[in-house]
Amino acid sequence: MFDKLASQPNDPLLALIGLYNADSRTDKIDLGVGVYRDDLGNTPVLRSVKAAEKLLLETQSSKSYVAPEGDRVFLDLLWELVGGTQSGKFAAGVQTPGGSGALRLASDLIARAGTGRLHLGLPSWPNHAGIFGATGLNVETHTYFDVPTQDVRFASVMKALSGAQRGDAVLIHASCHNPTGAGFTPGQWEELAAVISERRLIPLIDSAYQGFGAGIEEDVAGLRSLITAAPEALVAVSCSKSFGIYRERTGAIFAVADTQAAADTARSNLVTMARTSYSMPPDHGAAVVRTVLSSDILRKDWMDELNSMRDRLQGLRQQLSNALADGWQLAPQIAEQQGMFSLLPLKESDVLTLRKEHGIYMPTSGRINIAGLKGADIERVAAVLKPLLG
Ligand code: PMP
Repeated sequence: MFDKLASQPNDPLLALIGLYNADSRTDKIDLGVGVYRDDLGNTPVLRSVKAAEKLLLETQSSKSYVAPEGDRVFLDLLWELVGGTQSGKFAAGVQTPGGSGALRLASDLIARAGTGRLHLGLPSWPNHAGIFGATGLNVETHTYFDVPTQDVRFASVMKALSGAQRGDAVLIHASCHNPTGAGFTPGQWEELAAVISERRLIPLIDSAYQGFGAGIEEDVAGLRSLITAAPEALVAVSCSKSFGIYRERTGAIFAVADTQAAADTARSNLVTMARTSYSMPPDHGAAVVRTVLSSDILRKDWMDELNSMRDRLQGLRQQLSNALADGWQLAPQIAEQQGMFSLLPLKESDVLTLRKEHGIYMPTSGRINIAGLKGADIERVAAVLKPLLG
């Protein structure tokens, strides 16, 4: 049987890690992989997470299964963090292996119950198209962002949604857009909410970077306005970045509706689809998040840590923008964009030259992970980027 299969290429980002690791230059710079790093280049375990793990180790009395939808206290606390208290809305959640697992279940649900059509603005996180394609959704794409001008193409987004059919799904990044860092203005969120409500579309909102953009509450303001406007919505949450627990595979999918019965029906479908896929999610990461969010002390410490990750990202963006300013007129956009990523207008050949001649690693798309910069690297990186961007 296996000889009937075609061998698949490595994921390009994972292949990039191999190339970076094989480079013996000591001043090499990794702007590829999408994890937060501190100024030493490390992705440390947060203090609040370590403290929660210690508590769990001391107090956990069983490794028996959790409920089919996962840890209910985790789900309630996470929804409060993301959705807030939505008056007149009912949310039903299922704990998932990471945000990816949440997107996969959402996609399965849309395939099962909706029009099977999803509108996706490009560029987007590459795994979006992968996941939606894997569940057989009919993905219709439109332009979200223009790389050369670094502009969100809002007219193109509105055109796609104004022409969408009732019940179509639309993927929306809650904040810190991957790969562009460029988000909607408050006015654009309002227009988006209006068209979603009027056309009765289903927003599938991907929230993977809460707290990395403008602030913990600010990063979900647009998401909340869409939920209020839409008759039904799906919210895929990843805890990977905000809690720094990438490998613990922690996330949730929430079905939001105007009635408890509708939300519960959606959840019962999500649970049965999870059951035939991986049965139940892993516990540890969700137990950590539950422990952090349910303790005033740990929650406060986590918020301080998250705020300092955001401050570092904003500081690096400002420094890089300043260092590029005398050679690239769009440099101020880098400071305005949010989260870990920006998408530079570089040719593939430029990206390969940066790798070969300067030991600066990024995927051929030109996406850079701002957190991969160390303060001391910025001038050097800007000096080699300027002639390519200007
Ligand atoms: N959505 C977006 C936009 C992402 O960038 C990521 C991770 N790179 C995810 C979802 C999924 O994250 P995970 O499965 O690791 O929780």
